[in-house]
Amino acid sequence: MITAVDLANLDRPALEQALEERGHKRFHAGQIFRWLYRRGVTDFAAMTDLSHELRGTLARDFTLTTPEIVAREKSADGTEKFLLRLIDGRQLESVFIPDTPSMTFCISTQVGCAMACAFCLTGKMGLVRNLSAGEIAGQVRVLAGALDMLDKKFNIVLMGMGEPLHNYDETMRALRMLNDEHGLAISPKRVTLSTVGLLPALEKMAGEPLMPNLAISLHAPTDQLRGELVPLNKKYGVADIIDACRKFPLARRSRITFEYVLLAGVNDSAEDAKKLARLLTGVKSKVNLIPLNAAPGIPFERPSDEAIDRFAKVLADRGLIVSVRKSRGRDIRAACGQLIVEGQQKSAAQKLAVALR
Ligand code: SAH
Repeated sequence: MITAVDLANLDRPALEQALEERGHKRFHAGQIFRWLYRRGVTDFAAMTDLSHELRGTLARDFTLTTPEIVAREKSADGTEKFLLRLIDGRQLESVFIPDTPSMTFCISTQVGCAMACAFCLTGKMGLVRNLSAGEIAGQVRVLAGALDMLDKKFNIVLMGMGEPLHNYDETMRALRMLNDEHGLAISPKRVTLSTVGLLPALEKMAGEPLMPNLAISLHAPTDQLRGELVPLNKKYGVADIIDACRKFPLARRSRITFEYVLLAGVNDSAEDAKKLARLLTGVKSKVNLIPLNAAPGIPFERPSDEAIDRFAKVLADRGLIVSVRKSRGRDIRAACGQLIVEGQQKSAAQKLAVALR
């Protein structure tokens, strides 16, 4: 039995090959990409510059799946959260953040997440499954289409659900699909990949031809503290991560972002800030402080504004570039670490997280 190929999951070279195998010219792949990514057309019959014969082949041999919008919620600050349903019924969330100063899409790479960071609600779900490249790129197609932004410039942050380097191949393939000149042509400079620091994948990424900006979720300057917050630190420690960052091939003038979730009384002391500054000496870095987005079931608190300012000042006084992330969409649970989808996996932790919302 020949099963239909999901066209949405093909990069252009793969689509060219699939067309050629069926006796069609390779260049039609570019036309199809333009329909799909630039005009948001997912119905083969509507791709009117293709011959009837080619449209027939497409309808017969391919499917074209697109995540379906189940719910859309708008925050008082303009942030919009999309609940999307995938072909197997699994659901995920993607977020649109306007004016930061540019437009940003916060995209998921997995349903759930295996990393289980102590302060993150998504982590409570556990990993349900990886997304395919088509599903990762599909979120961008859907959001850009729904927001009438297919012809607009926007940034992408891989900071939704999941750990992108834990789904390495599909994430990188999605970036290639989104970068395609016949599609949305999104430059990797407009993409930021945020990772908890899966070292082998980080080292592999250093050799990628399409290199997004890198953000490292550090959250603590020592192994002792980081180990309590980020379970993966027991495998890949702070020194190894910083070492990999020092070696990372950065474009001129670009810097690695170090994300640091501030937790009251846990990692927000002046002493922690000094240690962090020392750790980052000589690294081409900028620090992004993220005051905790508190949630029921998360056993931490957000520091006071004074504590946040004090921490930032210690870093700035030592010559670091520091910003404090303004969390957007907290009223609709669209902010960092608040993405969670109910009813997919019946793990005790997830039930608890849902029950406590
Ligand atoms: N798995 C990737 C992407 C995660 S989301 C990573 O770990 O980098 C992006 C950022 O939000 C990460 O730095 C993550 O640690 C942070 N985050 C998670 N939960 C949070 C919370 N409750 N409040 C604030 N930031 C949070």
